[in-house]
Amino acid sequence: MRLILLGAPGAGKGTVAKRLTQLDGSVQISTGDILRGAVQAGTELGKQAEAYMKAGDLVPDDLILGIMEKRLQEPDCQQGFLLDGFPRTIPQAEALNGMLAKLGIKLDTVVNIDVPRDVILDRLTTRRTCSNTQCQAIYNVKSNPPQVAGICDKCGSPVIQRDDETEEAISKRLDTYNAKTAPLVDFYGREDMLLTVTATSSDAVVNAIQERLAG
Ligand code: ADP
Repeated sequence: MRLILLGAPGAGKGTVAKRLTQLDGSVQISTGDILRGAVQAGTELGKQAEAYMKAGDLVPDDLILGIMEKRLQEPDCQQGFLLDGFPRTIPQAEALNGMLAKLGIKLDTVVNIDVPRDVILDRLTTRRTCSNTQCQAIYNVKSNPPQVAGICDKCGSPVIQRDDETEEAISKRLDTYNAKTAPLVDFYGREDMLLTVTATSSDAVVNAIQERLAG
């Protein structure tokens, strides 16, 4: 499958993407995971992205487009890909259309995961992430804690609260989402590509996507 997952921070894009990769070997491409990896590794990209991320602002389009242009050409993408966190602005969506046309790739659908704001806020303040950038497994202190507090079930690394998951940065990320990313819902609606799923369980979202792809 070749999908874009749209949705506010905390809507569950990453969780849904991970489930979908298990179905058919498509790869999850999370620009947030790629950027956090670059920040931790201290690469040039990481240095340029860090301050924006910490403040809950978007990283400039040209940095993201450089990453994605390369990433989409890697061999594992031939099995299909789930874009999680990209595109995030209209210019990124337009550039993606250009990249896909050049590579001769057609998307199956754009999924808009629509979750009420109060659920999102609660999820983000209770979310914890594995600090190992090769893993980045996601937990929730209320609904899905690791078996041993503070330790990742999958790789044993410390599970932490992300730098951009302070109340201030969360509120900034939601405002940024509404201003810059929410307009993509109309953009893809006009292209007749959109599947909106209003659901708070990732299972329900995965089922709706499977139904759409089968139908
Ligand atoms: P979430 O969806 O939970 O906000 P992500 O892990 O997708 O988190 O992204 C974390 C941060 O990385 C964003 O707040 C932003 O600073 C940066 N980022 C990720 N993807 C993009 C993108 N496509 N364009 C610009 N900035 C991005």
